[in-house]
Amino acid sequence: PPRNAEELARAVARDGVEFLLVMFVNLHGRPCAKLAPVRTLDQLLSEGLGFAGNCAGGLGQSSGDPDLVAIPDVTSYAKVPLQEGLGIIQCDLYVEGRPWPYAPRWILREQIARLADQGRELKVGAEPEYFLVKRAEDGSIAVADELDTAPSPGYDAGAATRSFDHLSTVSRAIDALGWENYSNDHEDANGQFEHNFGYAEALRTADRVVVFRHLARMAAQRSGLVATFMPKPFGHLTGSGLHLHVSLWEGDTSLFTDPGDPRGLGTSKLGYSFIAGLLEHAPGLLALTCPTVNSYKRLSAGADTRSRSSWAPGYATYGGNNRTHLVRIPDTGRIEVRCVDAAANPYLAIAGIAAAGADGIARGADPGDPLTGDLEAAGAAAGLRPLPPTLLHAVDELARDGALREALGKVPGGEYADYYAAVKREEFAEFHRQVTAWEIERYLLV
Ligand code: GLU
Ligand code: MG
Ligand code: MG
Repeated sequence: PPRNAEELARAVARDGVEFLLVMFVNLHGRPCAKLAPVRTLDQLLSEGLGFAGNCAGGLGQSSGDPDLVAIPDVTSYAKVPLQEGLGIIQCDLYVEGRPWPYAPRWILREQIARLADQGRELKVGAEPEYFLVKRAEDGSIAVADELDTAPSPGYDAGAATRSFDHLSTVSRAIDALGWENYSNDHEDANGQFEHNFGYAEALRTADRVVVFRHLARMAAQRSGLVATFMPKPFGHLTGSGLHLHVSLWEGDTSLFTDPGDPRGLGTSKLGYSFIAGLLEHAPGLLALTCPTVNSYKRLSAGADTRSRSSWAPGYATYGGNNRTHLVRIPDTGRIEVRCVDAAANPYLAIAGIAAAGADGIARGADPGDPLTGDLEAAGAAAGLRPLPPTLLHAVDELARDGALREALGKVPGGEYADYYAAVKREEFAEFHRQVTAWEIERYLLV
């Protein structure tokens, strides 16, 4: 990646880029952008581009406020593989010359800076899952591939082959970006896919998730389809996660690794403390990692899938290489956080994970021994307390979680956690005002 303005100018010329999508995300992780002609590059880098923040939504601005100024981070530049002449660059947001604390990218940067103060670096690998669907005129959705109806289609070679055009387009695109795509598969639900690529420094991976979703949607739209990252598009099928593989480093040394781990998982004391922090803060963390009303229909304690499993956590537990837990330890040196869903704002989700883990480390917490067996089936019987059942429950937990509140920081109106909670409570209230077909069916003749 370019390190400075000159290198960016050279990269843009080399790539034949004529326009840049000057991008940032709002509270929900939705990419917002303006198209800037590259001949304005010098001005773009020195002055940024102005936006009406209220219009982007969820960024703490109302209509009368001064411009939100997006200043590109030159190191985030990427040529868009699916569109000749187009590049993307991620931005940091300022208002009147000062960093704007409502910007999710700043919130993650703050956690990264705190780790850097201790000489540490967080690395993250993301596993985005999504459904490829087509939308009918009445607004309903159906799995795009009409032949993809097998009751347990995980890794179905036929389905992956039938969707070859789409999968290979996405694969080539992310490879062209240098992300080292190494696998693309049909997931456990009909119409569901996942693409895997290399891990990177936390901010870089958060940027990649935003770009990935944008590219996958673009690729699908070109075939008249929709790539949806909503966590649970079909009630009877497994939902879509965004598992994050997290590791902490000091230079080239992995701080999560200990070959002499008495628990036999190759994990260090510090790694266990990080896990303990995640599990303790899980109820509030969920408001950041599972941020929609729909998210809670994916989590297994409330799931109703016809497959053998929802593969999504229902309890705040960890295990070894076991996919029924919130934290899985697939290997020494890294942990897989499975409570993040495909719709999460990656900056806020990773910031929350970093803060929860850091709190566990600061207190030298220990998560106890790992659980074994299929927890999805056994959790309730074991007397475990389920994760928050709805967005509203999770948001209430976030609002009273001291460590997460502190990590999200202060904003001009008070604390970001309260701002976030208010936005999400309103989202829940809007949902709750709907009268659904299920209610008519259930209560019409009550
Ligand atoms: N789709 C599952 C989820 O919602 C994950 C399946 C897997 O382990 O890849 O998290
Ligand atoms: Mg998966
Ligand atoms: Mg995974």
